[in-house]
Amino acid sequence: MTVAQTQAMVVQRPVLDVRADFPILERLVHGKPLAYLDSAATSQKPRQVVDAMTEYYFSYNANIHRGVYTIAEEATAAYEAARKKIAAFIGAASSKEVIFVRNTTEAINLVAYSWGRKNLKAGDEVVLTEMEHHSNLVPWFLLAEQIGFQIRYIPVTPDGLLDTSVLPRLLSERTRLVSLTHMSNVLGTITPVREVADAAHRAGALCLVDGAQSVPHMAVNVREMDCDFMAFSGHKMLGPTGVGCLYGKRAVLEETPPFLGGGEMIKNVTFEGARYNDLPWRFEAGTPSIALGAAVDYLQALGMDNVRRQEESLTAYALDRLRAMPGITVYGPPASKRGSAVSFTVKGMHPHDVATLLDQDAIAVRAGHHCAQPLHNKLGIPASTRASFYVYNTPQEIDRLVDSLARAQKLFGV
Ligand code: PMP
Repeated sequence: MTVAQTQAMVVQRPVLDVRADFPILERLVHGKPLAYLDSAATSQKPRQVVDAMTEYYFSYNANIHRGVYTIAEEATAAYEAARKKIAAFIGAASSKEVIFVRNTTEAINLVAYSWGRKNLKAGDEVVLTEMEHHSNLVPWFLLAEQIGFQIRYIPVTPDGLLDTSVLPRLLSERTRLVSLTHMSNVLGTITPVREVADAAHRAGALCLVDGAQSVPHMAVNVREMDCDFMAFSGHKMLGPTGVGCLYGKRAVLEETPPFLGGGEMIKNVTFEGARYNDLPWRFEAGTPSIALGAAVDYLQALGMDNVRRQEESLTAYALDRLRAMPGITVYGPPASKRGSAVSFTVKGMHPHDVATLLDQDAIAVRAGHHCAQPLHNKLGIPASTRASFYVYNTPQEIDRLVDSLARAQKLFGV
């Protein structure tokens, strides 16, 4: 498709009419309107989500599950209602399968420390992929040091896809877990999670999906994927920081020991020991965060298929425009096979210089290895610049990115 064709496609389809819900987008930076192109790191928050949080703090702030007074019951009801909404949003069979944690990182660590310590032993294998975020690498490294299991990797092809042809050779009776991202935060690649989960199950292993980038951007259904665990973060899907979720199949969670110990996760405690609570509270020690429900309401009102369609056309447009520029290398597959994280390098310029110059034009992008250093090593680059889009971005912001990049290249004489 030519640039003109994708431009026409993007312009014809109106942007989901949401920008007015995001007051931050009215902000000027260095006297210019902010173009926020870093939603893969964290999303902006609509007024509806901030209002829900304010309403909680101003009218029924109380600890959940502990008080019998009215506002404590209201807080508990809101918290459990959010859990039900999230369960429906991801297609879980029951809200008991949704555990509130702080973020994706904590969810994966929960699986490593609770399920992993119980089920992994020396000689076992955990299979990851070459495109994982550090949060789906380092917890397994830490545990492997203690237990002595092996870590193996599904490779990434030169065009940025997951090479699933190796699965029959890679997976064996030694494999206990295959843990993979559903959408790369660097290449944008959407991975064939169902195919991988089926292969894992055939080998007698479980499958964990890192949904940090997919759950905010497309319809995700854990039962269709048939994964055993899925981790995701609220702050990347229009919700507040400090709340994320671990989904787990009920039968698997029932057999998984608690992670953090403390209040709320117990049934009763004596000086001799404790009996643990039922699902999902067994995994929720301490006072949790409230308010992801409003973000789910917002996304559901937009429709996740609309969110995906809009981002796919924005991404196609960005890929076409960036690929047409001299001196720019864009990584990853075409728009139909990816989400909206678009990483690139500019010949003769360090990604930090690129990001700093773009900031002068009020364009917020990410520079670095995006917590996926092994993938950057594989690509043969120390770092990249990443633009990533969400429901509030426009084709005009991509035009501004391209114009600003051209100015930066001119300034550097490259
Ligand atoms: N996995 C992926 C694919 C991510 O993009 C991120 C965030 N960049 C994470 C995990 C970690 O998310 P969090 O920092 O919210 O735990």
